[in-house]
Amino acid sequence: MATVSAKSITEQSDLSALKGRISLIGLTGGIGSGKTAVSDILGKLGAGIVDTDLIAHQITAPDGAAMNLILKEFGAEFIDPNGALNRSKMRTLVFENPEARQKLEKITHPLIREETIAQANRLYRNGAPYLVFVVPLLIESTSWIGLIDYLVVVDCPVETQIERVMHRNNLPRAEVENILKAQASREERLSKANAVIENQGSLVTLEVEVQNLHQKILQIRKDSPSSS
Ligand code: ATP
Repeated sequence: MATVSAKSITEQSDLSALKGRISLIGLTGGIGSGKTAVSDILGKLGAGIVDTDLIAHQITAPDGAAMNLILKEFGAEFIDPNGALNRSKMRTLVFENPEARQKLEKITHPLIREETIAQANRLYRNGAPYLVFVVPLLIESTSWIGLIDYLVVVDCPVETQIERVMHRNNLPRAEVENILKAQASREERLSKANAVIENQGSLVTLEVEVQNLHQKILQIRKDSPSSS
């Protein structure tokens, strides 16, 4: 297969330009399931990681690309003294008010998309063996489902998710349960998975599982008829 120049990829404005040139792996799972833990290990093994959740945090950090627009749309009460988005206040607002959610997404989604495409193209040009897109609500998005070649779901019992997130974010149980209700069910996610990472044991066990996954993904690429 002819190697496509990096330039032609950069000129394409969406991720479908990468399809067929590099394996596009989706990594999802419910809140607190361990997506970051898994993508950290894959990243150390050499995978190209594009974490859309991390990008969402970056654009709403102090001086983040979304902050001026959020200030204009929602007012200073949604900004922390350090200039970052006040997440808990915004979370409460958008849970109660779908219109506010739409307004927020109209600001954040194009910025997340732009940065996701830029990072993916950069990793491709730098020779990553495959790309992993960490997307919390991947199952809920038809455009992501249509794009990726292989879906990895990180799974653990719902009670483990709740305990981890209560502990990590210092949130009350009811708030974590509300977030869970807004996400696809565990069963729905598992029914779409090409591979499942069970993350209910230790981090050492997880590491071994993820190393096996890495080998499996490298193999997919080798087995693919279009690979060069
Ligand atoms: P979110 O959807 O909220 O971004 P996530 O799916 O990325 O979460 P992580 O942040 O990787 O999940 O994990 C949630 C928390 O649980 C973190 O504090 C992490 O350190 C911890 N954790 C993840 N896996 C394990 C494990 N196997 N053993 C112990 N702690 C774990």
